[in-house]
Order: sequence, then C-alpha cells, then structure tokens
Amino acid sequence: MVNTSSHKRTEIRHQLAKEELDILVIGGGITGSGIALDAANRGMKTGVIEMQDFAAGTSSRSTKLVHGGLRYLKQFEVGLVAEVGKERAIVYENGPHVTTPEWMMLPFYKGGTFGPLSTNVGLRVYDFLAGVKKSERRKMLSKENALQKEPLLQSEDLKGAGYYVEYKTDDARLTIEVLKKAMELGANALNYVQATAFIYDDDGQVNGVVAKDHVSGEEFNIFAKQVVNAAGPWVDELRDKDGSKTGKTLQLTKGSHLIFSQDVFPLRQAIYFDTPDKRMIFAIPRGDKAYVGTTDTKYNQNIAHPQVTEEDRDYLLHAINQMFPSLDITAEHIDSSYVGVRPLISEPGKDPGEISRKDEIFVSDSGLISMAGGKLTGYRKMAEQAVDKVASVLKQESGILYGSSQTMHLPISGGDVGGSTGFERFKNQLLNKIATFEVSEEEMTTLVDRYGGNAEKVLSIFEEQHEKANYMDPVVLAELIYAIEEELTYTPSDFFIRRTSALFFDIDWVRTHKDGVIRYMSEVFEWDEATKQRYTDELEAAIEEAALTTLG
Ligand code: FAD
Repeated sequence: MVNTSSHKRTEIRHQLAKEELDILVIGGGITGSGIALDAANRGMKTGVIEMQDFAAGTSSRSTKLVHGGLRYLKQFEVGLVAEVGKERAIVYENGPHVTTPEWMMLPFYKGGTFGPLSTNVGLRVYDFLAGVKKSERRKMLSKENALQKEPLLQSEDLKGAGYYVEYKTDDARLTIEVLKKAMELGANALNYVQATAFIYDDDGQVNGVVAKDHVSGEEFNIFAKQVVNAAGPWVDELRDKDGSKTGKTLQLTKGSHLIFSQDVFPLRQAIYFDTPDKRMIFAIPRGDKAYVGTTDTKYNQNIAHPQVTEEDRDYLLHAINQMFPSLDITAEHIDSSYVGVRPLISEPGKDPGEISRKDEIFVSDSGLISMAGGKLTGYRKMAEQAVDKVASVLKQESGILYGSSQTMHLPISGGDVGGSTGFERFKNQLLNKIATFEVSEEEMTTLVDRYGGNAEKVLSIFEEQHEKANYMDPVVLAELIYAIEEELTYTPSDFFIRRTSALFFDIDWVRTHKDGVIRYMSEVFEWDEATKQRYTDELEAAIEEAALTTLG
C-alpha cells in the first residue's frame, strides 16, 4: 500500500525497509522525483529518501523557468538547446497547472551583446531547434513597440527587442507533483530521511543504504538491487562516501533572486536583459510581485544553507537600476529573496556562467549510479536515461526485463486535465462554481493554478473540514490538510516554502497565517513545546532571511 500522508511516516518507513527494492533513489529534488516516476511507471519497486523536505535543495530555488536556454546558443550548445527546448513542450502538456507560457522580451541596445540581426537569427535558430509551435514563434519589436509593452525600460540607445516565449513554473510544486504521481504508481517516498552510509554485498557492490529518520531519530537499512544518487549539489559527498569521487567532479555555483511588490516595481512584461558586466538576467512579473535573477558565482560553503550576501543584493539592484532607471530601487524596497546552488559538472578554467548545464551519469565500480548536472526543464529525459541504465543493469544481473520509458505522455499529479487546452476548460468549470463553494474568484484561481485537477480534492476538504479549526482561515486550513495528507508536509516551513511558495511570492500571507498553521500542525502531530518552538524558530528565521533584514 502506498502512503502520502505525514501521519503514516512509520508505515512508509516499514515499507521501505520491508523487502528489497528494485531501485532506491537518494534525493527528492526534481532529478530524484523524475527518476522515481519513470521507474515506478515501468513497474519497478521504487523507493525515494530525502534528507530535508522534498525540493528543499536546488529544486525550490531556481529561476522557475521551463525553458530551452536561449543563452546556451551563445555557447553553441546546440544539442542542449534542442533537447531541453523540446522537453519544455512535454512538461507543459503533462503539467499545465504548474507551467504557464510567458512572452519574454529581449531588448537590444547600441553596443550591447545582441543586435537586431543576431537576435533575429538567434531566436529563429532557437525556434527551429526547440521545435517551437507556430503561435509561439519569435517576433521582432521596434523601439516604440518595446517601450509600449514595458514603459519602465531604459529608452536611451534602445534599438528594439526580440520577443519569444518561455514557460514559468513553480519548481517545488513541479517536483512534488512528479513525486506524487510516482507515489500513485507505487513508489514509497519519505522526507527527512538521510542516507548516511552505503551497504555492500560480498562482491563489493552497493545493495542498500543505512538511513536515518530525522523525525523519529531511528536508523534503519534499506536494500535495493540498484541505488541511484540523485543528490544534486551533494552528489559528490555521496560519491566520496562510496570511494568513487574520481574523474569529473561538481563545481557548485550560487544564484540569488530578489522579489519586489508591484507597488514599487510595476513590471508588466518579462524581460531578459544584459547586466553591466555582460551577463544576462531575468526580470519577471508574477502575480502582484516582480522577481529578478540571477547571480552566478562559484560556491564552496554550506550547501544546505546558501545565503544572499550584500554583494549579491547590490549586484542585482545595480543591474535593475541600469535597465529600469525610473524606479530608483533600493534595498528597502526588497520584499523577499531566495538563493540556490547549481550542481554543475566542473570544467576547469571556465567562468561560472560558461560552464555547461549538461547532465551526465557516472557509474562507479560499486555499481552506484550518480546523476549530475542538468536542468529542471530536462528532468523527464534525464530520468529516462537514468532508468534505462538501471533497467539494463537489472536485466544483466537479475535477468528481469522492464519496458522502455512511457513518461512522454504521462500527466503528473494534478495534470490529468486534458493537456493545456483541457486545463483552461477545467479552470473555467471551477470558476463557475465559486458561489457553490463560497470562495472568492482569487482563491479559486489560486487553488486551480496551484493544484490543477487536485483542486477538487482541496475543495472537498474545504467543504468537510472548514469548521475544524475555527482559529484558521478555512481555505488555508483546507490547503494545509491536503498538504499534510497528500504531500507529506511535516513542518510549517514545508508548507510555506515548498508547498505554496508563499515565503517568496506572498511573504505577508506567511506572516498572517503562520500562527494558525503552527498551532494546527502542533495539535495534529502532537508536538511537545520544545518541538513546536523549534519549528516556529525555523520559520521565523526563514522569514527574516528571505526579507534580508539581517543584511546591512
Ligand atoms: P536538488 O533539488 O538539490 O535535489 C537533491 C536532493 O538530494 C536535495 O533535496 C538534498 O536534500 C537531497 N540529498 C542530498 N544528500 C542526501 C542524502 N545523503 N540522503 C537523502 N537525501 C539527500 N533549471 C531550469 O530548467 N530552469 C531555470 O530557470 C533554472 N534556474 C536556476 C537558477 C538557479 C539559481 C539555480 C541554482 C538552478 C537553476 N536551474 C534551472 C537548475 C535546476 O534548478 C537544477 O538543475 C535542479 O533543480 C537540480 O535538481 P536536483 O534534484 O538534481 O537537485
């Protein structure tokens, strides 16, 4: 039996420990979740362990674009652009609720990186390589058109702009929806469980891990025919434990983002623009916010806790003021922020921005399969490659045959609404039921965009349980119950950071609802005072850090 509820942690642990799995995935980011989905869908007995919360590593801290990586064209990474460009259409159709098309403007200036000709040619090649559908192919804009679409743009020396489509996503929700689909297909997954050591058979082959549950404190063994290291920036730490950190290694780079209220940064149009030091960054409207990023600097410090420094903050503020000079943005205007670590494969001598985003699979002498590099966008294809490798080992060693990947047309959880066109219909149907449920149009829109087809489940919780905790907003309560029962949410930070992204894009909502959420969670999980205080402090620290109040 498969469990998705945080009340069933003990049962899930027993399932993982009960019998040998076909595949154990270490890491519950997008890479590990994608691998789990592909494997479970092929019928493999699959387990996933994540030492923090799902997506708490890099997969909740990206620029949140499902994109073909236009800038990789500049580095002639034609294969990468073609592959991820095609993948983005698949990600969109399988999860239309977590991916939304967004027209992006690429302004060009006298003396800038791109001119009208290179932009036109670049975007045309991009359309071709990425197989962009007709309605979304690039357009070229005059200076006047560009300024009409975004009056905040620096107008001096502006010559015009390219106009093309990217897709916006919520990376943490994409990850959890992929993982939920894997669980629906039989995978057992548990957060706050760390692989602390590998277990080997008599031939020196990895056949399991020692796992530590950070919630219960218990240690247990998990055995598997194949262990896959999908630990993102921690991939090398695990290779080191396995004694196989040889040859290529990771180069971590750090990327920061700043978020502003539309009151101070009324950005209408997504812009991809040159920084004063000739890098390129995004400014993207999102609801009543605008966010800007990213930096790209080498990183050798605490992987679990990267922080936005004064230097990162000032770099982004400077770039914003150069491109949007009328704003006069300062540090006081920052609403929230976040920062992530890219797990890139080292290429000595190259600057961080020049290092390829390609993924690679390493297989150690002990049989440990490690997947490194890559992008959120390419997760499905990466998973296919990793599980093909697992399937071929299983065939060789155990004679078991598994079919090929069937995830290309497999909707992720919440995505089973008839693709992108079906999603619009589904959304309208639910919006027509606002009066029945007595929720506002804004609340209904948020629920459908956040949960897709699963919004109906959240609404039925809302109907049944809205009087359960009368100290809470009933819609927030319904979301919280759904998150605990169906998304393995265990701490207030899981809910506010990874299940709703509110810490980044609606920090005042977190401030408003945090006491009710903490009270409800402490009641249902029966936390003692010390535990309740620990999770409260963790959330308060996250709020302070995101708001950058700790910087000078
Ligand atoms: P992670 O998400 O870090 O997952 C690895 C997980 O393994 C972690 O959660 C960790 O806790 C867990 N783990 C580690 N060790 C253990 C252990 N011993 N036991 C159990 N669990 C363990 N890509 C795009 O496509 N579009 C973008 O717009 C984009 N923007 C980006 C911007 C920035 C600033 C960054 C940093 C990256 C960006 N990327 C983007 C890249 C993308 O975010 C990453 O490639 C992707 O999220 C990596 O996912 P992952 O699962 O490999 O790693």
